[in-house]
Amino acid sequence: EDIKFEVKHLNLYYGDFQALKDLNINIKANRVTALIGPSGCGKSTFLRTLNRMNDLVDGVKITGEINMDGKNILSDKINTIDLRTKVGMVFQKPNPFPMSIYDNIAYGPRCQGVKDKKILDEIVESSLKAAALWDDVKDRLNKNALGMSGGQQQRLCIARAIAMKPEVILMDEPTSALDPIATQKIEELIDILKKDYTILIVTHSMQQASRVSDDTAFFLLGEIVEFDSTLNIFSNP
Ligand code: ADP
Ligand code: ADP
Repeated sequence: EDIKFEVKHLNLYYGDFQALKDLNINIKANRVTALIGPSGCGKSTFLRTLNRMNDLVDGVKITGEINMDGKNILSDKINTIDLRTKVGMVFQKPNPFPMSIYDNIAYGPRCQGVKDKKILDEIVESSLKAAALWDDVKDRLNKNALGMSGGQQQRLCIARAIAMKPEVILMDEPTSALDPIATQKIEELIDILKKDYTILIVTHSMQQASRVSDDTAFFLLGEIVEFDSTLNIFSNP
């Protein structure tokens, strides 16, 4: 099995407060890894170190290594814009841009310099198909994305990440703002996406972790106290 992220002696401080304590973990490629544990124990913080979104927080200090395909992504030499393209992110609250469905998907590729309408059309269609949203929206691509249901908005955010051709998709409680049916759709989608992407999902729900993940890391007070296949974690007496 391929390792996507090799995390070694990772520590993270917000000022004087240590939020991550000597994390050592290998995240496998093309699998779903769930991060579970009580609120405030560092799950979200860990997720955000994997695409260096934490760099944007004032007073943050990070030590240790995160090797992605053999390269330390914490190195000063890493281009964080490229990294965030390779390691996409989906948030708890769906956050489509207040523009058309089409423009939401085309936004990232356009920022990367894609101008050709035919190529953009292809990216929009393939990304929406990959996020199981194409059939829902193909007749109203020019409608404002904010008019969609919450579940559709979240799948749009997944499609927007996919349009950047990522290798990894980070999901921070992607269903906690959604109803059960929309949640089930996202969970089914995650199961399909893991063939092509490495997925990490923060969840408050043990049930969700056991449904969607292959591996589970249990966080407690900034440490990973257990990491194993989800099957082993949930069959422990
Ligand atoms: P979880 O995702 O498990 O709920 P977080 O990673 O959000 O936990 O937070 C871990 C700890 O770090 C918490 O004590 C939280 O208050 C603290 N924390 C998170 N973000 C910041 C920040 N920007 N500045 C200072 N402390 C923070
Ligand atoms: P969640 O539990 O969903 O991770 P939080 O409500 O803990 O969200 O955090 C929301 C935002 O506030 C995040 O951007 C987080 O980094 C920031 N934050 C959390 N705790 C602190 C803190 N103690 N000081 C400063 N910012 C914080």
